[in-house]
Amino acid sequence: MPQVMTLNDAAERLVEVGRDFHRRGWALGTSGNFSVVIEREPLTLAITESSVDKSRLRPDQILRVDGNGKPLAGVTGKPSAETLIHVAIARARASGAILHTHSVWSTVLSDYHAGRAGFFIEAYEMLKGLSGVRTHDHREFLPIVENSQDMESLAKQVTSLMTEHPDLHGFLIRRHGLYTWGADLEEAVRHVEILEFLLESVGRRQMMEPERSF
Ligand SMILES: [Zn+2]
Repeated sequence: MPQVMTLNDAAERLVEVGRDFHRRGWALGTSGNFSVVIEREPLTLAITESSVDKSRLRPDQILRVDGNGKPLAGVTGKPSAETLIHVAIARARASGAILHTHSVWSTVLSDYHAGRAGFFIEAYEMLKGLSGVRTHDHREFLPIVENSQDMESLAKQVTSLMTEHPDLHGFLIRRHGLYTWGADLEEAVRHVEILEFLLESVGRRQMMEPERSF
């Protein structure tokens, strides 16, 4: 298991990730939220503050929360509204980092395929960028969860989703965005890049032949 990052290293790197994802259109305005596990026992996350612009993220806007999503003593500022989802993923996967983006393609496809509660991404070379995938000949399931402002209920759905599908690399929330994670922050960043590429490819391909199922 990779070593956990310190709060300072995590904060510095998340600031860069925020600028990069904002520039690429994956976290415009105050959308998206990012976290890094900085301690496993007891579980402690460094997570982006609620409602902060990702293009101008500062290290002091990365806050420490406990395994229940509550800010640690001495923390000023309100952690991301979606903190409980990050905690649920950190627990279910023992992941080192969790990243959430609001791209156009994740928003569009999470709505288009919502009736089937998810869809498969199949036989693309870029799938090999997902951890443990060795060949393009792979079928990746991307589930879709209905959007809600009730974070406790969403976090519970995420926990059962991850128990049901142990091989997932990510999931979508309907008309909202993508969640993915990694053993460490760099793997989670790579998963965002790969999944965002695949979502755009699947979406554009589908527009060419809307009647065909992919
Ligand atoms: Zn969100």
